[in-house]
Amino acid sequence: MWGPKMSEIPNYISLEEAITITQKYALKTEIESTPLDQAHGRILGSDLPSKVNDPPFDNSAMDGFAVRFKDTETAPTTLRVVATSQAAASNDSVSISTGEAVRIMTGAPIPKGADAIIPIEACVVEGDSVTLTQPSKPHFIRRCGENIKQGIIGLEQGSYLSPQSISMCATMGYDRLPLMKKLKIGIISTGDELKSPGEPLSFGEIYESNSYGLSGLVEALGHTPIRYPAVIDSLSELRTQFNEAASECDLFLTSGGVSMGEWDFVRKLMEEEGDIAFWRVRIRPGSPPLFGHWNGTPMFGLPGNPVSSHVVFRMLVTPYLRDSLQTSFPIDRIVHAKLLTDVRSTKDCLTLRRVSLHSTQEGFLAEQPKHQGSGNIDSLSSADGLTLLQPGQSGKTGEWIEVLLL
Ligand code: AMP
Ligand code: MG
Repeated sequence: MWGPKMSEIPNYISLEEAITITQKYALKTEIESTPLDQAHGRILGSDLPSKVNDPPFDNSAMDGFAVRFKDTETAPTTLRVVATSQAAASNDSVSISTGEAVRIMTGAPIPKGADAIIPIEACVVEGDSVTLTQPSKPHFIRRCGENIKQGIIGLEQGSYLSPQSISMCATMGYDRLPLMKKLKIGIISTGDELKSPGEPLSFGEIYESNSYGLSGLVEALGHTPIRYPAVIDSLSELRTQFNEAASECDLFLTSGGVSMGEWDFVRKLMEEEGDIAFWRVRIRPGSPPLFGHWNGTPMFGLPGNPVSSHVVFRMLVTPYLRDSLQTSFPIDRIVHAKLLTDVRSTKDCLTLRRVSLHSTQEGFLAEQPKHQGSGNIDSLSSADGLTLLQPGQSGKTGEWIEVLLL
């Protein structure tokens, strides 16, 4: 069924061993300067030191009155309003002395001589005097550089640029960013039975779904998916598509055709003409993946079952991209959860069941509400996480386990 070459390569290895093998073939990318407003979801290519102090000057955290703390330790106190400090006002000259206050807006510079802010809610204004109904505290002043000081690294190389980190870049004064150039990642679905969504189905056919989900995963990691049309189970058609993907892409993924069957042509083609680094990994679902090179381009052969293709992407392709480029990803988080229902574990595999999470005072509770067939994409699309049940872990109700968030 499969030839001598397959018996020589690492077969049915642990996830850790598989990841270690992929790391030997780390991908590289270049750095490109990109406008800030195109940087969301991308990966930072170098450490980013702040160009400025944030805030750049002492300023008020409240609308109210800037006062001298000493004048206002007891309430009520009445002070004379001598000026107004607005945000962006150039008020170098505004200052106060004993018995005086300056009306101030949030974000406006603190006048010289002032060292406390009384919020507007605690003031009664009459003409040019203000009565403070509560004693002041030396609060509500945002000090120059208290968020980040000029020259300090605000975001590290490899950071995934979330909306909040984009704001951080802007605050630090960057209108362009050094970003890692997106990798081109090809996606090839294989199988005679696959039809594109939108087309009518004949008996025996199903809608091709894996390439869409895998494209989403590639995008979620900040790279560019290239989704090729599905290929029928034919060695020559696959070869043609592999050649195209290998020449256009930095990496390509296939789905389907990697098991031991007669029709598993991805495995067959890789075995006969490719360069396989490992085949089959001890994870369930998703044990048949292979990793190797085609014409020198790395490729992962993912299983065809829809849940398995996602799970193997999360288990193998995400770490490969993360470790290659030293990146952190938002979709790579693990939480602890207590099992609310029994989950079937395995003796020799990492078991990845789909669970819903409930947040309680005790922590997360994990429940397995749906049947867990690896063809049941509904069980994945409705889940919050994947159990990371180690080989031999019981999976019994009440056990605390790790869950990878989806
Ligand atoms: P295979 O690994 O090729 O034997 O496929 C395993 C199962 O996954 C079969 O039931 C296939 O019909 C299904 N399958 C394979 N590729 C896809 C795909 N791209 N989208 C949806 N289901 C698929
Ligand atoms: Mg198939």
